[in-house]
Amino acid sequence: MATVLDAPYDLFIGGKDVPGARGERRPVLDPATNQPLAQVSVATADDARAAMEAADRAFRESNWAQDDGARRAKALQRLAALLEASLEGFARLETRNMGKPLRESRGDIGYVVRTLEYFAGLADKLEGATVPVPGPRLDYTIAEPLGVTVHIAPWNYPLLLSIRSIAPALAAGNAAVLKPASLTPLTAIAFARLARDAGLPEGILNVLPGAGAEVGEALIADPRCRSVTFTGSSEVGRHIAELAARRLLPVTLELGGKGPVVVFPDADLDRAARAIGYGIFQNAGQMCWAASRLIVHESLRGPLVEKVRAIAEGLKLGPGVEDGVEMGPLVSADHLDRVLGFVAEARADGGSLVAGGERASAPALAPGNFLRPTILADVPASSRAVREEIFGPVLAVSSFTDAEDAVRQANDTAYGLLAALWTRDLATAHSVARRLESGMVVVNEAPISYPQTPFAGIKASGVGFEQSRQAVEAYLRRKNVLVHLGAGKRKS
Ligand code: NAP
Ligand code: MG
Repeated sequence: MATVLDAPYDLFIGGKDVPGARGERRPVLDPATNQPLAQVSVATADDARAAMEAADRAFRESNWAQDDGARRAKALQRLAALLEASLEGFARLETRNMGKPLRESRGDIGYVVRTLEYFAGLADKLEGATVPVPGPRLDYTIAEPLGVTVHIAPWNYPLLLSIRSIAPALAAGNAAVLKPASLTPLTAIAFARLARDAGLPEGILNVLPGAGAEVGEALIADPRCRSVTFTGSSEVGRHIAELAARRLLPVTLELGGKGPVVVFPDADLDRAARAIGYGIFQNAGQMCWAASRLIVHESLRGPLVEKVRAIAEGLKLGPGVEDGVEMGPLVSADHLDRVLGFVAEARADGGSLVAGGERASAPALAPGNFLRPTILADVPASSRAVREEIFGPVLAVSSFTDAEDAVRQANDTAYGLLAALWTRDLATAHSVARRLESGMVVVNEAPISYPQTPFAGIKASGVGFEQSRQAVEAYLRRKNVLVHLGAGKRKS
């Protein structure tokens, strides 16, 4: 069948579009129809080595790392401006490949522009320090890039989660190799071409669409790899940490979540309901920081669940490219089956269905991976549907009696990414925020983040953090230089 995007998407190595070493191509599908969208070259372990070679050469031989930072700042600003100028095209490509509504993809690409601008602004401010030491000595530190950094990205925010770590790595003077998710490589490949147009030296950004187990592992095994940043499932994250440990490589891991939303009796119910709907149905719930467990005070449970149910049932489902669509398909047919499996298990465990729970019934949506927004109540806390990340538009509701009970339930999870709480009482807000075991807390807000705020998970949600001024440290090393100033006539 003819594909919609006729030009093939190749690997991007050393500033050039190249086919994979095996010559293999695979279609990526439009999740709204499950029809082929584009043909993508498949990278192999040999291609991974070629990309590491190209990146290492660019790191050593181009001026990228040696320049004073102001030139990197300018190049990243140019790249941000080029992306902003093609925002609509990138947003459409993201939506066609991943499924999310165009409005969300526009927001994602805008976020990438902001991330590039933010880290461009840091590129010429990566300073060392002088350190007081005894005697006739001078001690100072130099902030140096690591070399070649490897980035492995998931499919839920394909470009955003790729560039979230690549922007600081490039700002710091590294050369980056990206392996996008196999399901959603298109915007990353298009972005690499844009980086060439922005004047980044050849080899400073390389993109390798290909299977995680082959390409991802070959990148980590390569002796030129200096760090690994992985965003994806906790299961694969553990495996990556083991591979990196064997090579003593630093890792940043952004993994899964099972976010609680705690709603106290004094909450603004209408705002809370809207934010809860957004926090679980945006991107069809395919979000690491999805607010997937609603923990509501028993006095409010009936009215709040009713409001969220009305939001769920009012959402317009459809292909993300269509006007007015509020929720798109899940990323793949396999993923839809997995999510439906969780819903079936929750019901078998005694949970009751408040909304959704099945595929969308409209005939036009039948070929795609559409699931109705789903709310489950009274699923036992031991059920896998409450304990594991579903990564779909599925909210589990439970109720609490007092703050102690709320905090206990919120923390009763292996994960610790984002927690939300709703109250008008300052003391409750700040004291509960402190007690929540999560890397991020939002108060009276839907899940939200900015390039300048840390994005961090604890427990099974991750190691290290991304975003904020400090994120650039993961891509630098601090070399200490100690100089004796009394050469020839030493006294001390
Ligand atoms: P995944 O299966 O863990 O895959 C993530 C990436 O790792 C993909 O590029 C994948 O390649 C690659 N990969 C798979 N096995 C690998 C291996 N053995 N070695 C090296 N790389 C390997 O996750 P996903 O299914 O794409 O995304 C969903 C998960 O990501 C969810 O659990 C979600 O919570 C998490 N996530 C976390 C954050 C965060 O910031 N904390 C953000 C978004 C998503 P293939 O595509 O070829 O399999
Ligand atoms: Mg996966």
